[in-house]
Amino acid sequence: MNNQRILIIEDEIKIARFLELELKHEGYEVDQAHDGREGLDKALEQEFDLIILDIMLPSMNGIEVLRRLRQGSEVPVIMLTAKDEIMDKVVGLDMGANDYVTKPFAIEELLARIRAALKRKVTQIMTSSILELDGLKVDLDKYIVTYDNEAIELTKREFDLLRYFLENKNIVLTRDKILQTVWGYDYMGDTNVVDVYVRYIRCKIDDKYSKKIIHTVRGVGYLLKDEK
Ligand code: CA
Repeated sequence: MNNQRILIIEDEIKIARFLELELKHEGYEVDQAHDGREGLDKALEQEFDLIILDIMLPSMNGIEVLRRLRQGSEVPVIMLTAKDEIMDKVVGLDMGANDYVTKPFAIEELLARIRAALKRKVTQIMTSSILELDGLKVDLDKYIVTYDNEAIELTKREFDLLRYFLENKNIVLTRDKILQTVWGYDYMGDTNVVDVYVRYIRCKIDDKYSKKIIHTVRGVGYLLKDEK
């Protein structure tokens, strides 16, 4: 028994029942929802390891369910699409679906895709390279910075500087140290450049989200405070 939980959002009761039986047989815990709204509610309220999501659903279609789900969840989603829903498939993947299976499908294929998606999820957790501070998230692999899921555009240097601060939370960093690490030992410029870039970051993050992230330590340098 692996105790992984899967939510099936599918309005065709026969298919949903069939899937539930097969998945339970494989040792998964299973829950069902039969329309989009119910499915979204369950997906947001409970913890699932994976969601199987049909596209054509009453009350809210699968694409919309996925869009809303992705605003706050990275749970793996496998979409079920009919043969003539090629566009939906593309939109679904764009929206953050992890995979899709075309109806009618062989259960073995779906099971294989479920196993693959769950395996990827485990690998991702183990090698997670996301630095966080409150609403701020810095994805080191993808070079993406967000605040409350809203993208923030940073230059390469600003990104490196922010990363350095996040990797050294609650430690006072002198201008020299910052310069050496972020700009490199061979940088010949003035330490004033650090002040300039701290100001850029403050402009883009602190000011916009009225949250003071980088604090000045007078006569010494800077400090990123994590109050938790
Ligand atoms: Ca359907």
